[in-house]
Amino acid sequence: MKTLGSQIREARLRRHLSQSALARQVGCKQSALSMYEGGRAAALSAETVGKLCAALGLLPPTEAELAEEAARPQGTRVYCPNPDCPSNLPVRVGESVVLVPHGHLAQEGEVHCAWCGEVLERACPECGAPLNAGAHCVRCGAAYLAGAPEHFDAERAAASERVLAWSR
Ligand SMILES: [Zn+2]
Ligand SMILES: [Zn+2]
Repeated sequence: MKTLGSQIREARLRRHLSQSALARQVGCKQSALSMYEGGRAAALSAETVGKLCAALGLLPPTEAELAEEAARPQGTRVYCPNPDCPSNLPVRVGESVVLVPHGHLAQEGEVHCAWCGEVLERACPECGAPLNAGAHCVRCGAAYLAGAPEHFDAERAAASERVLAWSR
C-alpha cells in the first residue's frame, strides 16, 4: 500500500510543485516535507498533513489512516546503485553532472530495483553508513553513484522525472 507521503509526493509532482513551494504554502519546513514524502510519518503533524491534502486536492486522511501511518515501521532507506538506471536523476552542478539517487524506504522483501532489476543498495557503499537524502554520504563524503554521465542529457533527466513521478 502506498504511504500518505508517497501519495502527497505524486500529487505534488502532478501539479509541478517543488517541495519548497508546497512547504511554504502550508507553512512547514521543506526538509520535513521531504522526510514525510520519503516515508517518515512522524516528520509532520496531522494538522500539516491535512493542509497538504487540502492544498493538493487530496481527501484528508482519516484518524485511522493517520494512526496506521504512525505505526508503520520506518524501514531501511535504499537506492539503486546502477548509474544508468532511470530512477537516478541526473542534475547539472556547474560544469559537471551529479546523479541523485532515488532513495526510498524499502518495502518488506524489496530487494531489486523496480526499474532496472539491480540489487538495491542499503547503505553507503564506501563506509556502510546509513543512507541520507542527498547524493553523497554525510559520513565519508563518497558519492552514492559513481559514473555519472559526462554531459547533461535533458532527455534522460526528463525520463527520470517521469519515473520519479510514478514511484512511491
Ligand atoms: Zn535501477
Ligand atoms: Zn560513507
